Amino acid sequence: MQYEFSIQVLPEVAGNPDMLQEQVSKQNKIPIEDIRHVEILKRSIDARQRVIKVNLKIRVYVHEEFTEKPILLPDYPDVSNAAEVVIIGAGPAGLFAALKCIELGYKPIVIERGKDVRSRRRDLKAINRDHIVHEDSNYCFGEGGAGTYSDGKLYTRSKKRGDVNRILRLLVGFGATDQILVEAHPHIGTNKLPGIIAAIRNKIIDHGGKVLFETRVTDLKIAHNEIQGIITHNGDIIDAKKVILATGHSARDIFELLYRKKVEIEAKPFALGVRVEHSQQLIDQIQYKCPTRGPFLPPSPYSIVKQVGGRGMYSFCMCPGGVIAPCATSSGEVVTNGWSPSKRDQPTSNSGIVVELRLKDFKDFSEYGPLAGMYFQKSIEQRAWHLAGETQKVPAQRLVDLTNGRVSTGLPETSYKPGLSSIDMSEVFPQFIYETLKEGFKAFDKSMRGYLTNEAVAHAPESRTSSPVRIPRDRKTLEHTQIKGLYPCGEGAGYAGGIISAAIDGEKCAEACVASLS
Ligand code: FAD
Repeated sequence: MQYEFSIQVLPEVAGNPDMLQEQVSKQNKIPIEDIRHVEILKRSIDARQRVIKVNLKIRVYVHEEFTEKPILLPDYPDVSNAAEVVIIGAGPAGLFAALKCIELGYKPIVIERGKDVRSRRRDLKAINRDHIVHEDSNYCFGEGGAGTYSDGKLYTRSKKRGDVNRILRLLVGFGATDQILVEAHPHIGTNKLPGIIAAIRNKIIDHGGKVLFETRVTDLKIAHNEIQGIITHNGDIIDAKKVILATGHSARDIFELLYRKKVEIEAKPFALGVRVEHSQQLIDQIQYKCPTRGPFLPPSPYSIVKQVGGRGMYSFCMCPGGVIAPCATSSGEVVTNGWSPSKRDQPTSNSGIVVELRLKDFKDFSEYGPLAGMYFQKSIEQRAWHLAGETQKVPAQRLVDLTNGRVSTGLPETSYKPGLSSIDMSEVFPQFIYETLKEGFKAFDKSMRGYLTNEAVAHAPESRTSSPVRIPRDRKTLEHTQIKGLYPCGEGAGYAGGIISAAIDGEKCAEACVASLS
């Protein structure tokens, strides 16, 4: 017999199958010798009380043996000779669109400007060590997209849990730990993601799909408002009646191209701010309310939102035990974001702390029409680059100094490898962002006592939180509102915000696209 229920236990019990079995037995009056296995279905940490507990959803096997069921991938057919779908971009949206095409019997041709995951590493080293930004291969561009060298957080605000579970199960099938199915806030880690991405690519190729690396799409062939194909940087033309455009939020050249070709696009609000680094120990102390977290608790994340003068200011993409990365996609700009290894065992934690922007904030850039937000974003990245010395060093300021409007003397070394320049954030940001940050950090400290400390350092800017442009599409067919056969997809088109939602949108676009073919 199997029984499913929820239980709250101490962290040391949650991590020890024998102790857990004993507690289940006692609490539910089931003789321990009758329990064959306790399977954990969901796990989350409740740190709201003085004594931290772990919430578990469990399935107890009483007088019944437990057999582990392997997570199987779909039975992908061979699509070598099937009708083709061109997919631009090999981020989560593009890759999951490609897998879905194969599942449905169509041949994906994935076109990616960057390199395969392994070759990409050299370019990441170059930006970290030598301040060289490769414009097609960096933390945002290349196989796996922006999500490859990330923390690999796998949660989303999407309400469609079914879809989320489907993506998580596929990731397990491609090599992720099955613990991502159990954790309330799963993550994979930078060291594990490349292997999973490579397994997805190999599956696409093994089943007859194509993946073209180092191939940048520079033009779209359109006739009578219908897509005819794409043109690559070396002048090659690939004819196509169906194109999924999944180029991510950093493909400024694609937004420019669409604007030039008078393909409808819209400005979209996004958020922008700094990336703040604290010691992980301090965050653990604040969140777990104890001097050290001990061996049974993971490095603590945090999530915080405040309203400051009518604007939202919130934490974004928090990386416990992680590192701040240089995420520029062009020379002449600096951009920050964060990653963590699977164990999240770095001594520092970092998080984007961003201020909500509105369309009217881009008024000084109105000459750029729907690209106003993108130019606003770019201007801040370029100003930060200039102020910090025109390398990949970023403007930085200790947190208390930021709130007091004082340039920091003697910045500490942080995890951001290219280095820091001590700059007052009022020089980097327009007044309204700077003032919101100043007041917001004081408000944060009221909810997280100790957060506002001069040991913490703000790095600027965190500017690629989501796309500054939306590429409109029909709600039902998912086709571009004006161009037949073009499917705007994923984060760059404004329909996703993170790895999981981009993957879900990739699948949706593939389904819509092949439905119109059959
Ligand atoms: P992208 O991943 O941006 O992929 C777009 C792809 O298109 C890229 O590979 C790019 O090279 C390619 N491309 C662009 N232009 C062209 C062109 N002209 N021709 C051919 N190819 C082109 N999200 C999370 O959910 N959890 C996290 O922990 C997390 N951490 C992150 C850490 C970092 C450092 C970064 C940069 C991002 C992180 N994100 C995280 C965000 C997440 O990576 C994105 O939301 C997600 O990757 C978006 O998927 P996408 O497929 O829509 O676009």
